[in-house]
Amino acid sequence: MTANTTQPSTAVGNYFVSNYPPFSQWKPENVPQAIEALNQAPRTEEPFGLYLHIPFCRKRCKFCYFKVYTDKNANEIELYLDALIKEVELYSRTRAFQGRQLRFAYFGGGTPSYISERQLHYLVDGLNQHVSWSNAEEVTFECEPGTLRRSKLETLKEIGVTRLSLGVEHFDDEILAANGRAHLSPEIYEVYDLARQVDFPQINIDLIAGMVGETEAKWRDTVRRALELQPDSVTIYQMELPYNTVISQEIINDGVASPIADWPTKQRWLDYAFDEFQARGYRIASAYTLATTSKPCRFIYTDALWHGGDMIGLGVSSFSHFGGVHFQNAHSFEEYLALLDQNQLPLLRALTLTPKQKLIREMILQLKTGAIDMNYFQGKFGVDVWNEFQPVYQRLDNEKLVERHNGTIALTRSGLLQVDHFLSEFFEPELKAVRYV
Ligand code: SF4
Repeated sequence: MTANTTQPSTAVGNYFVSNYPPFSQWKPENVPQAIEALNQAPRTEEPFGLYLHIPFCRKRCKFCYFKVYTDKNANEIELYLDALIKEVELYSRTRAFQGRQLRFAYFGGGTPSYISERQLHYLVDGLNQHVSWSNAEEVTFECEPGTLRRSKLETLKEIGVTRLSLGVEHFDDEILAANGRAHLSPEIYEVYDLARQVDFPQINIDLIAGMVGETEAKWRDTVRRALELQPDSVTIYQMELPYNTVISQEIINDGVASPIADWPTKQRWLDYAFDEFQARGYRIASAYTLATTSKPCRFIYTDALWHGGDMIGLGVSSFSHFGGVHFQNAHSFEEYLALLDQNQLPLLRALTLTPKQKLIREMILQLKTGAIDMNYFQGKFGVDVWNEFQPVYQRLDNEKLVERHNGTIALTRSGLLQVDHFLSEFFEPELKAVRYV
C-alpha cells in the first residue's frame, strides 16, 4: 500500500513515490517488451543517461532499505565490476543504443566510494570501451565520508565526476552512531575540505530530518553546520520506514514504538531548513533539494528522468526507463552475475506504460519540483491536467496545498512539505490500492 495520509505517526510502510505505475505491477512476463524497446530505432532526440548501482557498504545503516552488501570480498567486487562492463557491452550492441550520446551518468548505491581507486579505474576503462561519458554534462557520484581520502577524490575528478554527493545525513555523532552510520562528524569536515581543494564543479550534501534521536536543538544545529559548509546544493529527506529496514523490523517483531518523529514534526524541521537556506541565498529546487543561487546549479539526472528521458540502470536490482518501458534487473547478486556470464541481459520484470500512465508519471514526478507547466502537458499529451484530475486538484486547492495561476500549478509550502503523501491520489483507480513495491 502507499501512504496512509491521515496517519501522523511515522509507521512502517512506504510513503516515497519515486515512479509510476507502482513497482508491484512490473512483471516477468513483460520482459520481452523491454527487449522490443531496445530493438527500436534510436530516440536520439531524448535525453539519455546511465545509472550504475554499486551495492557495497561498510555497514548497514538501520534505516536503509536499499539492496546492499556488507560482506563481499575484493574478488566478488571485481566479478561484479566485470558484470557491469559486460552489461553495458550487451546494451551497446542493441539498435536503440546506436548513436546515443550520454547526457548524464549517476553512480548510486550502496556506496560507490566504497570501491578502491584501482577498481574505479578498471570499471571506467571497461565501460569506456562501450559507452563514453566524456561529453556528458553531469556525472554524479555518491560518497560515504569515511571511505574518502585525497587520492580517491582525485581519482573521481580524473574519471570525470562533476557532482560529488556526500552522504552526511547528520552532524551529531550520537545520532550518527544510533542510526548505524559508518562515519562520524570529524570525517565529514576532513573530506569536505579535501573535496573543495580537489575542486569539483558541484558538491551536494545529503541530510535526513527525523533520524533516531533527533531533537529540535540537534536539527537546528545540523542545519547551521550544513550552512557553514556552503555546499552547492543540499538534499534533505524526511525519514521514512519501509518494511525492510532494521528499525522497521524491530517495530514489527519486538513491538517497540516507532522511534521516529511524527510527520508534522519532520515537516516542521524541513520547513525550518528551507527557511534558513533560503535566507542565505539558496533556492528550493524540489521537495528535497535546495541549490545555491551564487552559481548555476542544474540537476540533469532528475530533470531528464522526470520529463520522460531514457535511462538504463546497470547493476543488481537496478531500474531502467527506456523507450516508454520500465524494467528492473535481477534482485539476487548471484543471479545477476550468472545471467551476464551467459551473455544475457539480467532482466527480471518489465512494464510498458500506456499514454495515460506516462502522463501520470511525468506529472507526479514534476510536481516534486514544486510547480508544473500546464502548457508542457497540453503540448506533449494533449491534456489539460487540471481538468483531467479535477477532483484531486480541487481537494488540494481547497486545502491550500496547490495554487493555479497563469498556466502553472504550484505547490504551496505546505503542499511541498507533504507532496509524497498525496501523489498516490493521482494514480489510476485500479492502482490506488495495490502494493507500491
Ligand atoms: S550507506 Fe546508504 S546504501 Fe549503505 S547502508 Fe547506509 S543508507 Fe544504505
